[in-house]
Amino acid sequence: MLQVGGFACLPFGVGRVGALGGVCLQVRQIGGRSAQLAVSTPEPPVTAFVFGRFGWSWCFPRSRSVRILSHEKSTFYVVLQRLLIKIHLENAPVVHCWIRTLLQPPANRLVLFVADGLRADTFFELDENGTSRAPYLRDIIHTRGSWGISHTRVPTESRPGHVALIAGFYEDVSAVAKGWKENPVQFDSVFNESAYTWSWGSPDILPMFAKGASGEHVYTHCYLAETEDFAAKDATKLDTWVFKNVKEFFISARENQTLFNKLNGEKVMFFLHLLGLDTNGHAHRPGSREYKENVRKVDEGVKEIVELIEAFYGNDDKTAFIFTSDHGMTDWGSHGAGHPSETLTPLVAWGAGVHYPRRITMQHVGDTFSQQWKLDGLDRLDVNQADVAPLMASLIGVPYPLNSVGILPVEYLNSSDLFKAESMLTNALQILEQFKVKMTQKKETTLSILFSPFALLSESEQLDILRKTRSHIQGGNYKEALLLCRSLIDLALEGLSYYHTYDRFFLGISVVMGFTGWILYIILIIIKTQTDIIQTSSNSRMESSHLSRYGFTALGSFITFFLMIQSCPWTYYVYCLLPIPVWHAISNEVWILNKFVDYMLSISLARTMGFLLVIILAVELMVLSFFYRAVLTVGLIAFACWPIGTKMYTQSKITTLVWVVFCLLLAVFPLMPVVGREPNITLVIFAGFASLCISLTSIWYLWKSKDRKFGDQNLALNICQVLSLAVSTYVVSSTHASLAIKQGVPLINHIVSWTTLASALAVPLLSTTFLFQRLLCIFISFVSTYLLLSTGYEALFPVILSCLMFVWIFMEQETLVKNGLSGRRKLNIIDFSCSTDISQFRQLNLDDIRRSFFLVFFIITAFFGTGNIASINSFDPASVYCFLTIFNPFVMGGLMMWKVLIPFILVMCAFETVQISAQISSKSLFLIVLVISDIMSLHFFFLVQDYGSWLDIGTSISHYVIVMCMTIFMMLLSRLAHFLTTKKIEVWRKKKHHST
Ligand SMILES: [Zn+2]
Ligand SMILES: [Zn+2]
Repeated sequence: MLQVGGFACLPFGVGRVGALGGVCLQVRQIGGRSAQLAVSTPEPPVTAFVFGRFGWSWCFPRSRSVRILSHEKSTFYVVLQRLLIKIHLENAPVVHCWIRTLLQPPANRLVLFVADGLRADTFFELDENGTSRAPYLRDIIHTRGSWGISHTRVPTESRPGHVALIAGFYEDVSAVAKGWKENPVQFDSVFNESAYTWSWGSPDILPMFAKGASGEHVYTHCYLAETEDFAAKDATKLDTWVFKNVKEFFISARENQTLFNKLNGEKVMFFLHLLGLDTNGHAHRPGSREYKENVRKVDEGVKEIVELIEAFYGNDDKTAFIFTSDHGMTDWGSHGAGHPSETLTPLVAWGAGVHYPRRITMQHVGDTFSQQWKLDGLDRLDVNQADVAPLMASLIGVPYPLNSVGILPVEYLNSSDLFKAESMLTNALQILEQFKVKMTQKKETTLSILFSPFALLSESEQLDILRKTRSHIQGGNYKEALLLCRSLIDLALEGLSYYHTYDRFFLGISVVMGFTGWILYIILIIIKTQTDIIQTSSNSRMESSHLSRYGFTALGSFITFFLMIQSCPWTYYVYCLLPIPVWHAISNEVWILNKFVDYMLSISLARTMGFLLVIILAVELMVLSFFYRAVLTVGLIAFACWPIGTKMYTQSKITTLVWVVFCLLLAVFPLMPVVGREPNITLVIFAGFASLCISLTSIWYLWKSKDRKFGDQNLALNICQVLSLAVSTYVVSSTHASLAIKQGVPLINHIVSWTTLASALAVPLLSTTFLFQRLLCIFISFVSTYLLLSTGYEALFPVILSCLMFVWIFMEQETLVKNGLSGRRKLNIIDFSCSTDISQFRQLNLDDIRRSFFLVFFIITAFFGTGNIASINSFDPASVYCFLTIFNPFVMGGLMMWKVLIPFILVMCAFETVQISAQISSKSLFLIVLVISDIMSLHFFFLVQDYGSWLDIGTSISHYVIVMCMTIFMMLLSRLAHFLTTKKIEVWRKKKHHST
């Protein structure tokens, strides 16, 4: 039987192999080498005879990763499990199997240390005394190994970091939705390819590689999840647990013969996941003594383990070691975003097959890190995080993981040039294979006349590069061969992303059509139902012609047919068919548009243009605020000037003055750093006192006012709330004080916190529904919850926001008086529960568009006032310490969401009041809000990008999603605000007369 020699896989038909004549791939008789392999793996490798459409090819994949199915024609089909890219195997002209070189690898085993959350600078730099925090590893950098920075990608979380390191690909953004917990896809990893892997560490990380692996050859040793307590006195015990267990494991291996034999085989891996640094970083921040002391502990542990393993194997020089981390950490103890402190991680490799330190006189990298770390005399070899996977695979001679996009960093290897060139060629073939699968997949689902292949990497081009590479390797021109491989990899990766985004233009047009249609339709609806522009009755309305109906039906059928023959996913149908009913509806309402244009022409052109200009400017300002929070400051200053511009200050000087003051106060917040970076409990306590003063003053004022609307019960309720506010303030200070002295958090604090949280939604419902009383109740309840979730200046945010919202209600009242729309209606006699009388609603006017703008702007301010997009995914656990101290992503995430929601609810309640006092229906205002947010969505849709850094990509997608969800979100919030303001629970039913 023929076997493929140079590579375990041959992605070409027999004819082509013949034509290549051993240029591209060497075909020779099965040799002793593969027989050797058969011995080294516990199950014999299967030689599968596979039929493709164009012929056959040979492969001998790893049996445990491959299921052999017998076909009716008794042909074997190799069915791959765990393939990220779905392949329609029966039709696939190529067969996918593992690609690796058959040259003898330099190492028999590899030890991977991952210090979770270790920053590159903390690790490499020298401390104040000029000594290293990791003396052992620093000594290795100087004497035995290679080093560099491993650049991670966003999101800098543990799971994607480990997947990049061990499986060699950057996980899809959609995995975020699953909390990085479950495998969104099964994937291949270096562990899966190894003969055996033993791993020790956190239950959050290890199981996913064991679950992703087929068969029983990845062993995990985890501690209990409860051990990861953020308030624990000493998080380094997470690391010492690992080191202790590894030691015990090797001691026990001496007694256990089966284990001993397994350990002495080839292609063995050990993985030590060290979570202590991450835990200490979150709990105490990376600048702390605890974090730095933990680096020292890890260094000592690594030293012990290295010595232990080398002794166990009798110093056979067949062990390779890699030390790195999954992500860094910001100065304020978070990770997830793309700040350099998060994306720069250390990489140190040494042992079998790794190059010795290379002394150089000048560093070829553009930054000054090497000088800062006093390592400028040694060559620094930077890699991308996914490159570590092929490095490990080639060191121990296992196939590269299937979906790996890592590029082998050959500078790290200390082996023959032939080995380097062969490894690189294998790397290129493996990435090329993914490109081909993707191309086949796209080709099958596209009409052949519409299919345009990736022009830069045609089949002949691939063969040409491979042939040249082969001849260079045979001729000993390894440098040229490496360069060619590198260019092939770059082209294949470019091609992969080309096919990945193949349908983008087509889908883009559909989405834009859908959006513009939708916006136009809502505008038409507003004009038709909410304004008095169309006076004539609808008899002028053209009968919706049958022609247009048939036309749109035909178009819809055509598109469906077109998508069906291309077997597109169901989402494509949604995107492409949605615009059709929308545009059909518009075609029925065209007459409104005609009337509207006539109306616009009848009023002065300058005014129309000016109005449009203001709208566009306002929308642009809001779009810009997603990128620069400072824009919100500009907007708020503009708001402060608004009453001066409209001469409102002559009408009510005091209200205007208060409005200006609070606008300017709130304008300070977007200029502050993002929440959680500088904890300042004093400010939280100050915010507590400020809200106490405000509440007490308000209660006193309401109680003393002549036409008092509430009774003793309500006063008692208010007093209780004020007391709870005071208790909350105390709980925050006591929690953080006891954490500072590492005493843990008293149980009573947790109880008080959860009670306050639970009561926040219920207590306001007990008060009377008169405007001021109800708003005050809502204010106290939500501010006390927010205080418990605050760690710094942000505690003041809802207080000032609430004050501004309160003044806003008065300001809107003034505009109504100014426009003569309503007499000065007494706000304090408004009762929320009796304000839903439809007959009182009036038609919309231009001022209502401004009100809607105010709402959208305040909602955005509530969102970005204290944070940005990045601050949402990388939150600071310190802010939930009052509620819990044990790591629990779901509860923590829920609490953080509630914290983000509170300002929204405050704004929404104020808006509810404005609607009632201005006598407009919430539906009509919402239609305007819908138009504004849809225009913004369209804007962000064009800004969605898939190039640039991962931070840019992630941010652009989240912007789009946020604006898309804004409308739905605001509708829900409006319902909630309506509920909070109008509903009342009667507890003192007997004494009802008191409160009515
Ligand atoms: Zn991590
Ligand atoms: Zn972490």
